[in-house]
Order: sequence, then C-alpha cells, then structure tokens
Amino acid sequence: MYAFTYDPAASVEEAAEKLRKSPDANVLAGGMSLIPTMKLRLSSPSDLVDLNGLTELSGIKLDGDTLTIGAMTRHADVTASGEVAGAIPALTELAGGIGDVQVRNRGTIGGSICFNDPAADYPAGLVGLGATVNTNQRSIAADEFFVSLYETALENGEIVTSVSFPVPQKAGWSKFANLASRFAIVSVMVSMSGSSVRVAVTGAKDCVFRVGEMEQALSGNFSPGAIDGISVPAADLNNDQHADAEYRSHLITVVAKRAVAACG
Ligand SMILES: Cc1cc2nc3c(=O)[nH]c(=O)nc-3n(C[C@H](O)[C@H](O)[C@H](O)COP(=O)(O)OP(=O)(O)OC[C@H]3O[C@@H](n4cnc5c(N)ncnc54)[C@H](O)[C@@H]3O)c2cc1C
Repeated sequence: MYAFTYDPAASVEEAAEKLRKSPDANVLAGGMSLIPTMKLRLSSPSDLVDLNGLTELSGIKLDGDTLTIGAMTRHADVTASGEVAGAIPALTELAGGIGDVQVRNRGTIGGSICFNDPAADYPAGLVGLGATVNTNQRSIAADEFFVSLYETALENGEIVTSVSFPVPQKAGWSKFANLASRFAIVSVMVSMSGSSVRVAVTGAKDCVFRVGEMEQALSGNFSPGAIDGISVPAADLNNDQHADAEYRSHLITVVAKRAVAACG
C-alpha cells in the first residue's frame, strides 16, 4: 500500500490534470473503500489526489424540482438534511442505513458511486430515482453511469462533481442488509413520476439493474400487490456466502414490495 505520493488538490481542474498526467493516480474522497483496497494490496495508486479540501464539492441544494448533492457530501450530511427529507425522504432512509457512524461520517456520495461496489446502496438510489451524474466534463444519466462490477462510465481525468435528482411524486426505499457490514444483500429503490415508474435493485447482481416487469405492473396499479407474482430468475443472480441465488430471487420481490409500501 504505502509507496504513494499524497497530493491535496487545490481545484477540481487541478485534480483532473493530475489524473491525466499520471494514469496510476487516484482521487481520495472519504477513503472508506479506497484505503481498505490499498491495505489489501488490491490497489496501489502512484498518487492520492485528495478532494477533501474542495469545499465547492460539498453541499445540498434544492432548486425547483431538482435536488443536487455535491460529490464530497458525506452520507451523514445527506441523512441530516432537511432539504433531502422534504424533497426525497427515501434518500434520507438510504443514506441513514449505510454502514456505521464512522462510515457515514467519512464516506461520500461521489466515492460510493465511483467505486460502484455491487452491494452499495447509492447505485440503486440513483437509477431508481432517474438521477444524473455531473462531472467536470459532462452529465451522465445514472442508467448509463453504472457499467459493470466496480466499473463506471468515467474516463481518465474525469471527476464527479455532483449528482442531480429529479424530485419524484413518490419514492420508497427498502434494504435487506448484511448484519455485519450493513451492505445490501438486496436493496430496492422505487419511484413514480407521472406515468414513469422505476424499480432499481442493488446487491443481487454484479451491478445495479432495473426490473422492467415490475415497472410495467406498477404503472397500471401502484401497490405492493401488483408485483406479488413477479420475480427475477435465480439463474441471473449472485450466489455467495451471504445469500444464495434462490434466496436473493425471493428477497427481490419481498424488498420491492416493501419499497412500494414505503412510498406511502
Ligand atoms: C465497514 C463498512 C461498511 C459499509 N457499509 C456500506 C453500506 O451499508 N452501504 C453502502 O452503500 N456502502 C457501504 N460502505 C461503503 C461506503 O459507503 C463508502 O463510503 C463508499 O463506498 C466510498 O466512498 P468514499 O467517499 O469513502 O470513497 P473513497 O474510498 O475515497 O473512493 C472510492 C473510489 O471512488 C473514487 N472517487 C471518489 N470520489 C470521486 C469523485 N468525486 N470523482 C471520481 N472518482 C472518485 C476514488 O478514486 C476511489 O477509486 C461501507 C464501507 C465500510 C468500510
């Protein structure tokens, strides 16, 4: 782990320039995922470009029907925000259920989505709410941002600056957590805005995914009973020491129904 240059960034552009110049450099946000991977020798960046001094990357703003959360905003700040609770209470629930107090006080929304752990909660939050990821170069729809296991659409030198959420008419969050880490075994975000319904699942495959059949059923009848008989085939799901694929398949329907019920 230990041979790297620590490099606090003075601006987003300077941080991006450092990433472009050193292909093995990495940005440091809360360090809750990056530092453990370095300790385990799974990652060995040449430079750690620290974003923690960039106050412009933190904060929460509600502007009309759009809630924007800065990339360096900590999970604890999302949990405590009156603006988030007023606009999208399901997001308050999501952030408040991440890890433990230390993880919530250090971990950031930007770090969580860039790491794209298959059991992380925010990927389902973003896809389920139809969010947009803003970077120093462009805006990317959440549907396009999460590509595969630990992989996103970010290019070299690209830094996430914020995430914008359209405020939905209704949204609900539910999580079946690993009791040790609180990571998702299955988590689901459901939202409804006019005729558009989204159901996004994390924890069950290598990457967040939507369940089209549930979205269609809920478009006609937005109630937990509407998705009663709909399941995701076990053959497509993760099978590991935390839960086998059959159990995850069962959980997706149960947790999705709870998320719909949580919409109130
Ligand atoms: C014990 C434990 C329990 C946890 N439980 C949960 C849980 O229940 N649910 C959950 O969702 N998560 C959980 N996590 C993960 C946690 O949410 C982390 O905060 C998150 O995965 C990483 O965020 P970070 O700010 O610490 O990022 P870091 O670890 O600093 O960075 C992670 C990666 O993202 C990159 N990165 C960071 N910010 C940016 C940016 N703005 N632009 C481009 N790249 C960037 C970094 O270069 C690095 O590759 C847990 C972690 C721990 C240690």
